[in-house]
Amino acid sequence: MPFIPAGDPVAGMPTADREVVTGLPPGIADSREELTPMLSQYADLCAAHEDALVLFQVGDFYEAFCEAAETVARVCEVTLTERSDSTGDYPMAGIPIDNAAPYLDALLEAGYRVAIGDQVEDAEQASGLVDRAVTEVITPGTLVEAELLESGTTNYVAAVARGARDREGSPPSTVGLAAVDVATGECLITAGDPGTIGEELNRIAPAELIAGPDAPAFEPADAERGWTDHAYDASAFDHGVARERLEPYVPAPERRFETDAELRAAGAVLAYAEYTQGDDGPLEYVSRIRRYDPRDHLRLDAAAQRSLELFENRGLGASDTLFDVLDRTNCALGRRRLNRWLRRPLVDVEAIRSRHDAVGELADRTLVREGIADALGTAYDLERLVGRISRGRADARDLRSLHATLTAVPDLQRILDGHDVDAAADVDSGASADAGSGASADVDSGVEGPRTDHLRDLRDRLDELVGVRELIDEAIATDPPQEITEGGVIREGFDDDLDELRRTERAGREWVADLEASERERTGIDSLSVGHNQVHGYYIEVTDANLDRVPDDYRRRQTLKNSERYYTPALKEREEEIVGAAERADALEYELFVDVRDRVAEETERIQALADALAELDALSSLATVAVEGDYVRPGLVDDPEMGIAIEGGRHPVVERTEESYVPNDADLPRGAVAVITGPNMSGKSTYMRSIALTAVLAQTGSFVPAQAAKLPVFDRLFTRVGASDDIAGGQSTFMREMSELTEILHDAGPDSLVLLDEVGRGTATTDGRAIARAAAEFVHDELSATTLFATHYHELTALAEDRERVFNLHFTATREDGEVTFLHRVVPGASSSSYGVEVAELAGVPAPVVDRSRELVAAESSGDGAADTGRPGTIEDAGDDPDDVSLREFLAEEDRAATDRRRSTDAEESMAGADDAADEPSPDHADEPSPGDAARPAAVVDELRELDLARMTPIEALNALHDLQRRLEGDADR
Ligand code: ADP
Ligand code: MG
Repeated sequence: MPFIPAGDPVAGMPTADREVVTGLPPGIADSREELTPMLSQYADLCAAHEDALVLFQVGDFYEAFCEAAETVARVCEVTLTERSDSTGDYPMAGIPIDNAAPYLDALLEAGYRVAIGDQVEDAEQASGLVDRAVTEVITPGTLVEAELLESGTTNYVAAVARGARDREGSPPSTVGLAAVDVATGECLITAGDPGTIGEELNRIAPAELIAGPDAPAFEPADAERGWTDHAYDASAFDHGVARERLEPYVPAPERRFETDAELRAAGAVLAYAEYTQGDDGPLEYVSRIRRYDPRDHLRLDAAAQRSLELFENRGLGASDTLFDVLDRTNCALGRRRLNRWLRRPLVDVEAIRSRHDAVGELADRTLVREGIADALGTAYDLERLVGRISRGRADARDLRSLHATLTAVPDLQRILDGHDVDAAADVDSGASADAGSGASADVDSGVEGPRTDHLRDLRDRLDELVGVRELIDEAIATDPPQEITEGGVIREGFDDDLDELRRTERAGREWVADLEASERERTGIDSLSVGHNQVHGYYIEVTDANLDRVPDDYRRRQTLKNSERYYTPALKEREEEIVGAAERADALEYELFVDVRDRVAEETERIQALADALAELDALSSLATVAVEGDYVRPGLVDDPEMGIAIEGGRHPVVERTEESYVPNDADLPRGAVAVITGPNMSGKSTYMRSIALTAVLAQTGSFVPAQAAKLPVFDRLFTRVGASDDIAGGQSTFMREMSELTEILHDAGPDSLVLLDEVGRGTATTDGRAIARAAAEFVHDELSATTLFATHYHELTALAEDRERVFNLHFTATREDGEVTFLHRVVPGASSSSYGVEVAELAGVPAPVVDRSRELVAAESSGDGAADTGRPGTIEDAGDDPDDVSLREFLAEEDRAATDRRRSTDAEESMAGADDAADEPSPDHADEPSPGDAARPAAVVDELRELDLARMTPIEALNALHDLQRRLEGDADR
């Protein structure tokens, strides 16, 4: 199906400033009739691929012409040359075919889709123009080139569609999502409301997204690792068209798919995948089309995925990610699987326990674990291999790689069965804390199979695929060349005809090899030699001095400076025999190879199933290795819906690796409780909260957890909000975003959710920030009953514990050691004192008078019940007008006196830094009578301040704007 661009020509173009040079270059569009046959062929391919940059094979290069050449030259940094023919001069730029990867990468990076126009006919055999066709369209989401794909990753292209004819029960707002990894054939399909689908998109993290007509716009949570939006033929999303496309993959698709939306998305994404693979029909290896419900996994909203740094380090703390910590896999299969698991932690208690069982067993059985690691170290990426085999793109080395992987299977079986393991040495390491469920030892016999159902099942799924293994071993040379058309690929003894041809070839070569000796003898010319060159083939060379002794049957072939070259009819005959046999043998080898590859391809599903088992085994043993080496413990899962989190000596899996002396902390959080966590900056609040969330994520992924003991409920959703100013690394954080993310929580969190609120409300002024924080905490507690951790620098929030049943306080403190302020990083019950900031100031060595004065002010403020803003002129006037507010009035009077005292005492102590500043601070009596001129100028600044569009500013812009305004105020004051 030809690619038809969507109606809006720039829709989905990744960058606005990109020149449009896809499709037919304007430079030849007008003169198509007059072009030479070759350029005309190029123009045809371009015209048929409107939204791609066509690379056109000319010999060993991929070339582009005219405007497209300029783009290729610029993006790939190659020289722009010129092609001149009878019809004119055309700019031309080319990239070498045998080293195309880096250039293709650059073009993809720049946002292009690249259509590969290959010569599909042997140039030597073509009469006239070589036939060319687009064999593949390379796009970010549909890569299959090994050089362009990162090992152990998944590379999805996703499609989203809205259904027009939803069945009963699914609201019309339902969005379908389908994602396919073209390299491995994995295909995921789901549907949900736009919010859910947005989350799923971030989880799947496709490289490329194509959207159907009317589909909502989705933004990646992290712009840096977002997807490329590409437009695609809108008709592919039609119900009927999509249905037809799906038929070869999923018989009776409308029965398999619950909503029209997902059927459309699935049909479109497969259409796109086929289009990029050269439109040769259905992709046979896309046989694992899996529908799933996002509710079957722990839902991590996009903000949580980002701020927990599961996969992407955002420079917020340690340099690693959780995935880095967990990844002790031994092959690409396992790495990809572990990645997928961590993206989708489970919610099914039994499934989680089953993984814990297996991890526990592998953690206990050191030799089994190490044996598995060794065996899997030789495994190749079967999922991608089988994709290449099925697409007919695999070479002989790929088949050998498959073979090498298959030979590891019997080893793995033996290891799992305990045969290769000295039972006595296989001591329990004791890493399993929850030994009661599952991992019961059965050590009667010296040799034992897997102890847990999970590993037993995996053991049974290890399919040796003997037939495939033997076929490859018999057919394919052990160290074959990359080229599959030039012989050396098929092993001797596999095919009689081939062997016969090779024998003929060999006999001919031997005959030639013997010729020199026999001819020397026959002619008596000792210096006679036999040689071969590309142009003339075999020859007999005789120096000029011996020409008189040349026999009659020698025919002259070539004259050199001091010698003549000859052939004889017998030599010529032999030569033809050799060349003919070699050519036929090469061709036959290719045929045989393709046949072997096709026979292997018939076992695609079994190979995929084996790949699945190997991937799981590797992922499990990675988790077991981490558990043993990281001193993790098996988490218990609580079934009682009342029970909450109980962690003893919990650690942050990533921070503990970089922090020299990590302080473990307990967590005791009943279901639905709200823990308000206070303490100075840098005292460990954020780390503590994240360590708890990560523990939950790890537990539900099937991993053991970094703690001494842990019991956790199974959460269904995990939310994380980080206050705007704490999230500057995100670059685009604004108060607006903070609030819209908070909105999501308040809508969606429930009793089975775990909610982390970190300094929420920080992105705005104190008064309303505090108000929002408090109101949010109350709502989470009263309405949502979500288990919540709330770190805040608003000390006032600690008061909630007094009037809310399930709210309690935790805090972090600091001490002074060797003259340095030290944060203990230890969480303790209760609220921090309201003046912890002052305490830290004292610890840091701020002079006593300032510390004392600060204490007074804090005390006054708390007794003044939150009237923290007394420094502002308006407040004082208001307070003065209110005869009822006695305490406030007293406070103000006292503050006045204190300020006067302070000035006196600082006059005496001249050495004290900052004394002048203290005196300059607007004291209430000054502020009481602002001069009219002073008031007018600030008013302008205030207006400007009010106009600032915070929602659209980055933190840096906001800082700059504030700085500006402040300077203006200072300028006014100077006048
Ligand atoms: P807060 O959120 O209170 O400002 P953080 O959680 O960001 O503090 O912690 C600040 C730093 O303190 C972290 O980057 C980490 O290096 C260190 N830290 C935090 N918790 C611990 C701990 N339990 N043990 C050791 N170091 C810790
Ligand atoms: Mg913090």
